Amino acid sequence: MSSTFLIALGSNRRHVLYGDPRAVVAAAMEECAALGTVSARSPIMASEPMGAAQRRFANAACLIESEYDPAALLAGLKRLEKEFGRRRGQRWGDRVLDLDIILWSEGRYTSGALTVPHREFRNRDFVLKPANAIAGWWRDPITGLCIRHLLARLG
Ligand code: AMP
Repeated sequence: MSSTFLIALGSNRRHVLYGDPRAVVAAAMEECAALGTVSARSPIMASEPMGAAQRRFANAACLIESEYDPAALLAGLKRLEKEFGRRRGQRWGDRVLDLDIILWSEGRYTSGALTVPHREFRNRDFVLKPANAIAGWWRDPITGLCIRHLLARLG
């Protein structure tokens, strides 16, 4: 059975082959096709550095229709992050590529360290802005608010 995932992408480092963070995010959206059908892609947006990060981020969101369950999809996303050379260890540090599962069409999912909906996404405009560009209508099963409303609430 196929289901839909809302995925958030972020980068704030250059990649030796792909180039600047925008190009990294664009390339990563292409690579997501390995995990299912990418049915929507947001524009790539710039956001300010936060936490330990030093550089501006490029952020985007995409929708993936996939046969995978959330755990299997996360494994695929981690593989992609590794291929792009993400450095582990710094939670908010500079990173070549960060991929998160934000929402899943089947609702909630918890297994091990993975929680869907993503625990922090409601407070992150760098997630909600790109997500709103492709899925403003999508309702968060926890708050009952759709992405458009969650973004408006952030102000
Ligand atoms: P971070 O390095 O801060 O992006 O955290 C990545 C880790 O958070 C992953 O290895 C997952 O085990 C865990 N995690 C929990 N919920 C999610 C989610 N919705 N999407 C991606 N990773 C998640």
